[in-house]
Amino acid sequence: MLDIKSLYYPELEAFITENGFPKFRAKQLYGWLNKGAVSFEEMKNLPKNLIEFLSSSCYISVANIEKKLVSRYDKTVKYLFRLCDGEYVESVVMSYRHGYSICVSTQVGCKMGCTFCATGRSGFSRSLAASEILAQIEAAQKDLEIRISNIVLMGMGEPLDNFDNVIRFLKLVSSEDGLNIGMRHITLSTCGIVPRIYDLAEYRFGLTLSVSLHAPDNETRSKTMPINNRYPIEQLIKACRDYFDITGRRVSFEYAMIDGVNDTDECAEKLSRLLKGLNCHVNLIPVNTVKGAGYKKSRADRQRAFTEILNKHSITATVRRTLGSDIDASCGQLKRNYTEKI
Ligand code: SAH
Ligand code: SF4
Repeated sequence: MLDIKSLYYPELEAFITENGFPKFRAKQLYGWLNKGAVSFEEMKNLPKNLIEFLSSSCYISVANIEKKLVSRYDKTVKYLFRLCDGEYVESVVMSYRHGYSICVSTQVGCKMGCTFCATGRSGFSRSLAASEILAQIEAAQKDLEIRISNIVLMGMGEPLDNFDNVIRFLKLVSSEDGLNIGMRHITLSTCGIVPRIYDLAEYRFGLTLSVSLHAPDNETRSKTMPINNRYPIEQLIKACRDYFDITGRRVSFEYAMIDGVNDTDECAEKLSRLLKGLNCHVNLIPVNTVKGAGYKKSRADRQRAFTEILNKHSITATVRRTLGSDIDASCGQLKRNYTEKI
């Protein structure tokens, strides 16, 4: 069966005409798909023989709401979606002053095995198709009756380990006849698969690359992020400098502060040296407690001291506000709690 929602328009048109239907039917079909249709039967202006043909040869990816949690504190909404084959992924919708932002998953699970991460601790099942990443956004928009303006690829999975489908998703979601969410409103987060950072740079998208750094040196980083053994920190930072040179886009770094592991003054000094002269922004995040990991978030005074040291070295850094703390809003946690129960 063909995953019809993952096709670019010219591919869809070729598929329709090669199967003996006129070109304008492709336009109609594309319109329905972009309006969020979840079945061919609802495409009222298509003839019966086309609907029959589509139903027997294609499917429309959907994200079904299996569970929905709404934060009492800040209106953050977390979804557990069931995909067509019964796999589960999570998305989180956050509301900010400038609009709604969604954090989407790119894989079911993750191969990267970061020790502080709920997704990383629960193994890998498969990568998502472009259509399945789109479906998360459409399902949330429909359910909440909102228009989402920002996307972060920070849910379950490593986007650059699903490179081709993620590129396809980015092109589809930003296209004018699609959801039309511009690249400037998209952030892609990676644990640091260096060759893929170079591949991404070649597209010269206007998106923000966010790199999960979480440590200022190889010794500390390799303890929590196995990918660091493959692509050590010097190579990663070099790739970020090159990414900026190629795209002109400032890189962000994520740094989850773990009590006693990576939050000392010395770590902050080392991090400042590492990032010297790089046009970047550091997001400091008090680590979310994950079952079995045994990590504690840094104390508030440590967060402040760490930020001050970076700022003193002219590195912009902010401590990220935690949203949805009552609903396990960091990805991987809901699925883990849910699937461990059933
Ligand atoms: N695989 C990609 C994107 C998904 S993870 C990546 O690693 O960047 C999204 C972000 O959440 C990453 O910055 C990741 O390091 C961070 N993260 C994972 N578990 C966390 C936890 N327990 N506390 C704080 N941040 C966490
Ligand atoms: Fe995968 Fe990112 Fe979690 Fe690491 S932090 S295990 S790369 S999802």
